[in-house]
Amino acid sequence: MTETGNKSFDRIRAVFEEAYRIGLGYTDQGKVADYIPELAKANRDDFGISMIDGDLRTLSLGDCEKRFSMQSVSKVILLCAALLHCGFEETFSHVMMEPSGDSFNSILKLDLASNRPYNPMINAGAIETASLISGDLSFGDLLGYARELCADPEICLDEAVYASESKTGDRNRAIVYLLKSKGVLMDEPERTLDLYFRMCSLSVNARSLANLGLVIANGGLDPFTGRRLIPTEHVRTLKVIMFTCGMYDYSGKFSVRVGVPSKSGVGGGLVCAAKGPMGIGLYGPSLDAFGNSKAAVKAMEHISRELELHSFY
Ligand code: GLU
Repeated sequence: MTETGNKSFDRIRAVFEEAYRIGLGYTDQGKVADYIPELAKANRDDFGISMIDGDLRTLSLGDCEKRFSMQSVSKVILLCAALLHCGFEETFSHVMMEPSGDSFNSILKLDLASNRPYNPMINAGAIETASLISGDLSFGDLLGYARELCADPEICLDEAVYASESKTGDRNRAIVYLLKSKGVLMDEPERTLDLYFRMCSLSVNARSLANLGLVIANGGLDPFTGRRLIPTEHVRTLKVIMFTCGMYDYSGKFSVRVGVPSKSGVGGGLVCAAKGPMGIGLYGPSLDAFGNSKAAVKAMEHISRELELHSFY
C-alpha cells in the first residue's frame, strides 16, 4: 500500500474538488501569455486538474482533456534527456543548478556574471541543455521520450504554436547567439533553437502532466509498465532543480507555501511530483506576473496543505 493509498479516496476527492473551486475563482485575475501570438488565443477561464496516484487511482476536474502547448514544462524533459545522454558531470559542466532570481527569459546574469546559464529551468539553461543533445538526438527521439514519460501517445507538435514561436522568438535567438559568442553552445544555433522551440510546442493536456508528475514522484519508474524511464540517480537532481527553480522567480515562495517539486509553463501547464507518490497536472492559461498559472498555484496551495504534501514537515 502506497503512502497516498492510506488516505481515503473520498477525502482526496473532496480536497481536489475544493481546490478546483478555489482555483476557478482566480482565473479572471491573470492574463494569458501573448508574447507568443498563438498563445493569446487561449481561453483564460479554462481550468483543469488531473491527479494520478501510485495505486493508479485517478481524478479529473474541469478542462483536463483540453490540449495546450507544454512550453517550459518541456525543460524537465530536455534535462532528463541531457542527463541520460551526457551524464551528470558533463551536463552540469554546461549549466549551473542555482536559482537565478530573474525572469525566465533574462539575459542579464548570463552576460554579466557567468558563461554558464544559472539552471536548466530558465530559457538560457534549457537552450544550452538542448545544445548538448540536438546534434545526436532528433526531435522524433525526444517526442518518443515525452510520450513515454507522459503515458500519452497522442502528444504531437502543435504546428501553429511552433510557427508562431519560431517567428517571434527573437529573445531566445539573442540567447542562443550570446551562448555561441561565449563559445559555450555545443551545437549549431539554429538547430539548437529549433529543438527548443519544438519541445515548447508539444501539445499535452492536464492528464499527460499528471502522468509525468507520477513518473518523477515514483522515482523514475513508469507506474503502468514498471519500466525505468529516468535513472534513480537523476530523479533526485531533477526534483531538487524543479523544487528550487521550477516556478520562475516565484520558486522560493512556492516551495515555502506548497513544497512540491513542480514546473510551470507559460501555456498554463503545471506539473507536480508529490510524495505518495502522486502526480498532479494542472492547466489554467490565466497567468500571474511571474508566468505561473494563477488558478493552478492557488489550487496547489490548498491541495498541499490539506493532504500534507509539503516535502518538509
Ligand atoms: N517557449 C517559451 C519561451 O521560450 C517558454 C517560456 C516558458 O514557458 O517559460 O519564451
